[in-house]
Amino acid sequence: MSEKGREPPQRLSAHIEAGPLAAGLYLVSTPIGTARDITLRALDVLNSADILAAEDTRVMRHLMEIHGIPLRGRRVQAYHDHNAERSRPALMAALQEGASVAYASDAGTPLVADPGYRLARDVAQAGFRVNAVPGPSAALAALSVSGLPSDRFLFAGFPPPTRSARLAWLRHWAQLDATVILFESPRRVNQTLTELCEIDPNRMTVVARELTKKFEEVIRGTASDLAADPRMANLKGEVVMLLDRPSAAVVEQDDILAALHLRLPHMSVKDAAKEVAQQLGLPRREVYQLALSLAADGDGRSDEI
Ligand code: SAM
Repeated sequence: MSEKGREPPQRLSAHIEAGPLAAGLYLVSTPIGTARDITLRALDVLNSADILAAEDTRVMRHLMEIHGIPLRGRRVQAYHDHNAERSRPALMAALQEGASVAYASDAGTPLVADPGYRLARDVAQAGFRVNAVPGPSAALAALSVSGLPSDRFLFAGFPPPTRSARLAWLRHWAQLDATVILFESPRRVNQTLTELCEIDPNRMTVVARELTKKFEEVIRGTASDLAADPRMANLKGEVVMLLDRPSAAVVEQDDILAALHLRLPHMSVKDAAKEVAQQLGLPRREVYQLALSLAADGDGRSDEI
């Protein structure tokens, strides 16, 4: 876009800066509930961008209205899952002309379970600059209030809708050595908890609802506690679920020895150690050392691991 065609962005308050933006895509994070959860830089970008694009144009206009940011004749272009293929070329063409393009989804970070990814990928591949304007995301807000370990976590997105696919999906993520964050429809939370009980009823689980909003609620307990909680049957609003990592089962040395004693008479040390380690979820080398000492005492045969 030529400098001539640009209206100088209006200075709105001491807080909002109004310089022209460098060309490129700006992925603007927006509130997930409380409207004031927006950064000053996000407001600067919405004020100054040449082109505004949004998952829902009404949501963006409303947000700008709340924060007193005028459109100044700028159109808000829709960019969502159903029109992305049609809408993307126009945004790419604007970037080609040197425009700054701000994109926001309905809430939170526009690439987290929202349509911004392909746009960012294509813009980067075309050699234009992609800028993050970081801010809220329900996944991190939920992790923050959950009380679960935050040193390692995985965002798994929405579970699949059918029961069998969901069970396999849950089984897969639930075995990770990390806190697992998932988005779920409030109508399906109960079902997901019931399925989680089939996998691990004692798993510490958190249901975080309506974060940063008036009816925010954070419910913590084991999967079976929560499945039995009458509130789960009638949840309203937006929900994030979090699962703690599996607790390391404490395996007594006697259990390992008993399992090895059963096998060593008719297996090699290596095979017995491998099988017992797998069965009890223990490091193979540790079990092998024990098996070797048993074998040396005459309880089995020795060989190489
Ligand atoms: N891009 C958004 C983000 O970064 O948070 C997520 C968009 S995704 C389409 C919408 C899902 O996010 C909801 O179904 C819910 O699981 C979660 N979510 C969004 N806002 C929330 C809130 N205020 N409280 C709890 N969960 C929320």
